[in-house]
Order: sequence, then C-alpha cells, then structure tokens
Amino acid sequence: MNLNLPSQFGKIPRHALSYSWPSPIHLLPKLTETAHSQGQDGSRVALWVKREDQAGPLACYGNKYRKFEYIIPDILAQKQKHGRAPTMLVTEGGTQSNHTVQVASIARVLDLKCIVLLHKGIGGLRKAGDKEAFIKVGNVQLNRLLGADVRLTDERDTGDEKGPLIPLLDELRAQGEVPYWISSGASLHPLGGLGYARCAFEIEFQEQQMVREAQFVTGTNRFDYIFVACGSGSTLAGLIAGFKLLEKLKPDADQPPRKIIGVLVSRKSRSSQEDRILRLSRMAGQLVGLDAETDITPDDIHLDDRFVGHAYGILDSDTAATVELAASTDALVLDPVYTAKVMRGMMCWARDRTASGATSRNALGKGLTNALFIHTGGQSALNAYADVWPSST
Ligand SMILES: *Cc1c(COP(=O)(O)O)cnc(C)c1O
Repeated sequence: MNLNLPSQFGKIPRHALSYSWPSPIHLLPKLTETAHSQGQDGSRVALWVKREDQAGPLACYGNKYRKFEYIIPDILAQKQKHGRAPTMLVTEGGTQSNHTVQVASIARVLDLKCIVLLHKGIGGLRKAGDKEAFIKVGNVQLNRLLGADVRLTDERDTGDEKGPLIPLLDELRAQGEVPYWISSGASLHPLGGLGYARCAFEIEFQEQQMVREAQFVTGTNRFDYIFVACGSGSTLAGLIAGFKLLEKLKPDADQPPRKIIGVLVSRKSRSSQEDRILRLSRMAGQLVGLDAETDITPDDIHLDDRFVGHAYGILDSDTAATVELAASTDALVLDPVYTAKVMRGMMCWARDRTASGATSRNALGKGLTNALFIHTGGQSALNAYADVWPSST
C-alpha cells in the first residue's frame, strides 16, 4: 500500500503496528436495508464500515494503535533526548477503558513495564448490574493478562496532560524508574492526531481501489459522509486534518468536501468539545503541512450530541438496542460505550435522509450517497455490560 503522503507528512517517523494493507471496508447490506425500510423509497444511501477493529494483529485491535504508531518513535527517542530510555508506560482511563489495553499491549511490544490507572468514577460502574464483575472482566482482565500493573482508583482524572499523576510519576522516578506518561485516549499528546490524519489518506486510497473495482454502485465514488466517535477527540481531529490536507492537494471543484461527523459519547458540553476538536485538528494539521489557522476553521467541525444517552460509559436502552440491531442484522458486534452510539447516529441520519425525497440526492444530483462508519473497536468491553441482552428474551 503506497499512500503517497506529501513529503512533510511522509517524513514524520512512524512505527508500524497495523498490517501493511488497509483495514477492510465493506458494505453493511442489512443495516442499509433497515435504514431504507424506515424511509420512503429506493436505495438512497449505502452504509459501509471501515474495520479499524481488524487493522492489525495486537490485542483487541482498535483506534488507539494508529495513534501509537506515531507516539512510539517519540518513546524510543527519549534516550537520545534525555539520556535515559523509559522503563515503563503509565496511563489512565475509565474502568473499562479500551485505550489502556492498547497501551498495555504496546508495552509488551516494546518490552516495557506498564501501569494502568482505572478510575472507578468514570464509565459504567455506578450503574452496572454486577459491580463485582464490572471491575474484573472485559478490559480489566485483559490489562492484567497483558502484564499491566492495574490500579483501580477512586481519584478523578482531570483530563489534564499531567494532572493528578505527577506525585505518582515522582514516586516512580524516586524508585529508579523512567516513566513515560500517555494521557487518556492519547489525544493531548502532540503527535496523537497523526495516526488518523494518515487514515484519511488510507480511506482515499481505498476509494480509488473501489472505483477501479466498480464497488460503488452509483453516486459519487467516494464516502460523502464519515461517522466516528468523539471521545478524547484525536481520532476525529486527525481525520479532519487528514482530509483537509488531501482535499487541498487534490481539489475537486465538483464536490463539496467530505463531511466528517463526530458523535459525542459523553456529557461534556458541545461547545467545549468543538473548541477541543478545532485545537487538536489544527495541532495535527500544522505537523502535516497545513496552515493550521487558515486551513482548518470552526466550519469544519461537525459534532452530534443527540446520542450520548445518560453519560459516558453508562448503558442506556437505545444504545443497547443498537448493539442488538447491528448484531442481529449484519452480525456486526459493537460496544455500548462508543461504536453503538455512532451507529445510532448514522442510522438516524440515514433514515432522515431516505424519508425526505428532497434531500435524497447528493450534491452531484446522483441517486446514491455513501456513508462510512468507522468501527473503532471496543468489543472487549462488551462482556462487562452484561445488561446488553436481546430485549425479546
Ligand atoms: C477511544 C475510543 C474511541 C474514541 O476515540 P478518541 O480519539 O478518544 O475520540 C472510539 N471508539 C473506541 C472503541 C475507543 O476505544
């Protein structure tokens, strides 16, 4: 796979973790049909999925690995920069955090120790039917299997880059360790957005291939809408920066830019999230060769806050029903914290679109609009949510 990254971007060091081929993109035939059966007529949208959960060989593959592809060179450069190579990775997350599993997993790859702080106040513990199990199964268990030192804590994380962990890091240093800190979701890391900026080029590469193989039925021969979860934010922000760069390099006067929609998964205010995504996408944009301030503007940020449910990681019945819908139609397994909320958002968009004849044509006046759902992983949290259960049983 040769992505033809522009030279400034291509020169940024990357430590490949994913396979050397793109993560698969495939149609969701039954979900596409389901969306249409709610609308008026014919096939107006085609729903596709990009399987970021199948992008590579490591444990519980998911979106954080792409971020680490650009962070690992920084970890490896510490020795040269500061004289001492890190001895351990330290990170934090909610109780059933997927991110921490992916950190624990790269600690294996790099032969480093790993400390994982899991915040009991963040995620579904409060409302879990079986609290004992919630702090033992799923990602908690996987972290332990991967050799991480798991510390369940009642402390709150501040979302700050160093936040409450400085005393712990000092303690570790006093013990002779050299800790390397990775913030929750790795989004605040200066290099955290690059993985998904690169993914934008991968998606375009796949669009070209799909055109050659006549996989798009009709329509625009590209993914006009892209739906992705917005948690800590650099997955969405990276995609925005990457597509911005791509569309600047290959302008297409006939089509509006692809629209990338971030579906919020927590109750943080939408305006604070918009600010954060703008900041993170400019941070990535600057590194890959955009003029951050002028190339990326608030108009590029599209967030949907209608599908959060109760709160981050707390199960709600609509989200549970969406997990069930995807499994019972296209045998697609989602998680209740992130991907099911995104799927709900995409299905809602598709139904609205098919229900109104006026908006059923895309910008080119062609009949079919292609939407792409980014499956960011997270299935390994599902068994902690024992209450996701077919409603009919
Ligand atoms: C972390 C995560 C996300 C959110 O990605 P951010 O870059 O933090 O916004 C989405 N889906 C899954 C499964 C995740 O683990």
